[in-house]
This record gives sequence, structure tokens and C-alpha cells, in this order.
Amino acid sequence: MCGIVGYIGNNDSKEILLKGLERLEYRGYDSAGIAVLNEDGVHVFKEKGRIAALREIVDKDVEGHVGIGHTRWATHGVPNRVNAHPHRSASGRLTLVHNGVIENYEQLKQEYLQGYSFTSETDTEVIVQLIEKFVQDGMLVEEAFRTTLKALKGSYALALLDNENEDVILVAKNKSPLLVGLSEGCNVVASDAMAMLQVTDQFLELMDEEYVVVTKEEAVIKNLDGIVVERKPFTAQIDASDIEKGTYAHYMLKEIDEQPFVIRRIVQEYENADGQIKLDDSIRQAMLDTDRIYIIACGTSYNAGLVGKQFLEKLANIPVEVHIASEFVYNMPLLSQKPLFLFISQSGETADSRAVLVAVKKLGHRALTLTNVPGSTLSREANYTLPLYAGPEIAVASTKAYTAQIAVLAILAVDTARAKGIALDFDPIHELSIVANAIEALCDNKEEMEKIADEYLSHRNAFFIGRGIDFYVCLEGALKLKEISYIQAEGFAGGELKHGTIALIETDTPVFALATQEAVNLNIRGNVKEVVARGANACIISMKGLEQDGDRFVIPAVHELLTPIVSVIPFQLIAYYAALHRGCDVDKPRNLAKSVTVE
Ligand code: GLU
Repeated sequence: MCGIVGYIGNNDSKEILLKGLERLEYRGYDSAGIAVLNEDGVHVFKEKGRIAALREIVDKDVEGHVGIGHTRWATHGVPNRVNAHPHRSASGRLTLVHNGVIENYEQLKQEYLQGYSFTSETDTEVIVQLIEKFVQDGMLVEEAFRTTLKALKGSYALALLDNENEDVILVAKNKSPLLVGLSEGCNVVASDAMAMLQVTDQFLELMDEEYVVVTKEEAVIKNLDGIVVERKPFTAQIDASDIEKGTYAHYMLKEIDEQPFVIRRIVQEYENADGQIKLDDSIRQAMLDTDRIYIIACGTSYNAGLVGKQFLEKLANIPVEVHIASEFVYNMPLLSQKPLFLFISQSGETADSRAVLVAVKKLGHRALTLTNVPGSTLSREANYTLPLYAGPEIAVASTKAYTAQIAVLAILAVDTARAKGIALDFDPIHELSIVANAIEALCDNKEEMEKIADEYLSHRNAFFIGRGIDFYVCLEGALKLKEISYIQAEGFAGGELKHGTIALIETDTPVFALATQEAVNLNIRGNVKEVVARGANACIISMKGLEQDGDRFVIPAVHELLTPIVSVIPFQLIAYYAALHRGCDVDKPRNLAKSVTVE
């Protein structure tokens, strides 16, 4: 969600900042801005909307070897040019960008800044005014910065420019992600390594409540007492080509197509030379030691967690609860004696999940993070990490991370079952290879998905129904459709519709029904009859072996536990084409952010 970049070195910073911001676009934002500092002072350019609009207003003649940039996902104040960052202090000396939310900004205004007039509605402006106030009280800028950080409550990633010192960018973080990149003759700042791969792959990780004095020669990390913290840089393991679209019109389509490779990669990464599952012993032990798993996640990852519960309960015989992170943190259920927390997050930065992690760690519980970004906050702070190996996911609507999450959850469940001595007739490595082939076949049949999107999705709403594991895929299918096409879509347990929601079925209301589970095949078909009798336009997607006359599409047969990885593909593609044909911005849907880094 939103992003920060910064550059200090020998080159003009404008293009590096704009490119960096473009690389952060996938995270979601509603306005953007940059500030470039030179001997004439600071030059700020900001605009509502896309980076392309910002590019139009940036003065090409202004040059500066130091600069900061920002994409804003508005939390305080509407998205407009005035509220866009960077924000300047009253005298104009200091310029700041901020990601996150300052919870006590009203209080700080009352306590320190009475009589100040603010130009924006943001919480951010309080930070820059407060730093300036401390400077005017006699502090040096670094001290004023540090003193302000101590006063802030909430989340922040910050970068600050000082008109009177062209040689430094001050940056800081608490809860919001931020990295400092190191290179020859220049250093950079970025919320995400991807933004600055054009400059370097060497990055310094920052911990909460640390700040960094960044010059073109060095980056000195300090804690809030001003004590220097030594840390070695790490190499970002991202291939620059992974984040290019290539010949694809959209990242989402590219990422849908990548799913067979991702599943095969997961098989490779989690398979030993002798064909056994390769998993850290400490994770295996944690799984054996627990009496109940609490899956904590949001959005698509939550939907994957629901499928994971089936695996862990059915295969490994461990009770599992799946919780929405933002609810769990303020409404914790009674916990079992030996809980293990399993966090699922594509980015590993999800603020709602992190809030739970912080809370359960305080209680002394163990946590395992399943994430696409090892080294992310949730990965670092949990006891154990299981990587997804899906490669960077850029489109806001998650596709390959979802299927990767389910595949890794299946492997984890089988490994635990084997460690417990439970005999299974299910070899996930073999079954996942069949799944990869099935996804490939579906990706080769996109025209059919496009036709289905055209046939069914001309209404303002749509329903997705299924039973058992199919129901969970329906939740994800509905989420995909609403995220990117803005069609109001809901996923329902097949039998539940008639307990209320069936009132919404009118002539031609689209209802997608999944039928991949033998045990409930006849039941779901009964539910389809109920909606058809009320005028619905039903689209049944079934699995080979369970198909019946009139089914609109039949997916290849795979193991019945792994059907979600395959049956979601038609839903992903149907959502994609529905969004495309409605003229929506497929990769960057309105109001949404990729990694949701505010609670
Ligand atoms: N809370 C700040 C604002 O609304 C920063 C939002 C962001 O993280 O982009 O301006």
C-alpha cells in the first residue's frame, strides 16, 4: 500500500524517483509526488491520480542530486493535490513524505502546534511542522527528527529533506516497510526493493523505531536514542525480468499464466532428492507440538486459509480455526493450551496480520508465516517462515499467490500427517504435478473463459455457489470479480442461499456453481435448480468424472482435495475478461492496494 522512494548521489534524481514510483504503482495509490532539492531550494511536484499525470507536471529543467518521492493511499483527507505528499513545513525549510497513520496527530497539534495553520487535512503534516517547531526551539534537524519520532504513535515510513543541507536524507520507520539501498556513489530509499533494483540489489533492512542518516557515501542506522546500530546489507533476490510485463497486456494475465510454473517450482523446492518432503525440522516439531492451529489472514489469503483448514484437519488431524486478522486482534477467542499461529500473507507486510502477530508474541505463542516475501516483516518476526516461491506478484488482485498458498498448505499438512504416523494415500508432490498440467490446459483455453464472461456478466451482480471446499473457492471467485470488475459478487455455501439471499435472484441473475466434489455433487445441483427455478442464469463448472449434461465448463480431473488450485483458474480468467470488457484498470483497481500496510 502506497510507497516511498529517495535518492542521493551524483545524478539527477527526478527520473530515478519517477521510475521508482512506477515500480511501486502495483501497491495501490491515489496520488503521487516528488521533491527535488538543489542549490535554489526544494522543488515539489504533486498530482492526484497516476504517476503518468505527475510526469506531465514535473519541470524537466529542474535538476537535483537529492530527492524523495511518494505514492499516497489516502487515510486522512481526500485524495487531491493539496493532501498529496511531499508536505512542507511552515517556513518551507523541511519537506517530508510519509506512509502510514499517525494515531495521535490531533493530540500533537493540541500539545505543540497551537496557532499553526495547516495546509492539508493529513496527519502527516503534523510531523513536518513538529520537526520544524523543535528546530526553531533550537535543536539540530537530526535531533528534532528523533525527538518527533519519539512523540509519534502509530505507523510510519518517513523521508525528510532539509533545504539547508543537500547532503542528507533522514529516514525512519515504525510498522510501515522501508529499506535503504546501497550503491557506489549514491544511496537510495524504497518501501520495496523492487523500486530501486535499477540502482542496486544491496539493501539494509530497518527495524521499527530506527532512523537512518543517508548521505551519498553512507547510511548510518541509529535507534531513537541516537545510538548507532551496525547491520550488514542483504542482496535482494529478485530478478529484474520478473517484474516486467513482457508481451502481456496486464500483469494479472501474466501471473495467471505463471501458475503452472509456480506449482512446479513449489514441488521442486519442497521435494528432497529422495522424493520426500523437505521442511525445516523446527517447523515440523512446532506442528507436532500444537493442539490447535489459528490461521490468521485477510482477503484472498483468508480464502486460502479456509482451504488450508480442510487439509490440516482432514489429513493431519489437527483442529484449525481460520480468523480474519482485523477481527481477531480486537476480539481474541479463547485459545487452546498449545496454540500455533499460522499467518498467511502474500506480501508479508499486512498490517492487520502483523497486529495479531505482535499481540500473540506478547502472549508467548509461536508463529509460522506463509509468505511470498521471505525477509518481510511477518516473516522476520514470526518464529518460522514457509516461502511461496511464486515470484513477485504485481497485479493488485492476487492469483498465483493464492494457488501457491494452497499448494504449500497441502505440503505442510501431508508432512505433519506423516510426522504423526498417519497413513495417507495422498502424495502431494505427485498430485501437484497433475494439478500443474491441469492449470496449463485451462490457461490454453482462455477464449472459452472470455466467452463465459461475455455470456454471463452483463449484470450489476453475480453469485458464486459451492459446497465444502468448492464454497471456499466461490468466496475467492466472487472476491476476484468484485475487486477488478466492480460487479457486486458474493460467494455462498450452496445450501445457504435459500435462507435469505435467494430473494435477490431475478430473471437472468448470473449464478456460477462449482461442482468438483463427489460427496456433494447432487446437492449443489439441487441448489442450482432452486435458483434456476427463480430465473437465474446458471453457469455450472464441474470436474471431469462428475460432469452432467448442461454443464457450461468441465475442468480436468485432479485429486479432490486439490481442486481449489484448479477450479479457481476459470474464475480468475472470467474476472479478468469481465474487467477488461468493462474498461476497468485490471492491474490497479480503484480504491485497492496490493500490500495493505495500514490497519
Ligand atoms: N496518512 C497519510 C495520509 O493520509 C499517509 C497515507 C499513506 O500511507 O500514503 O496522507
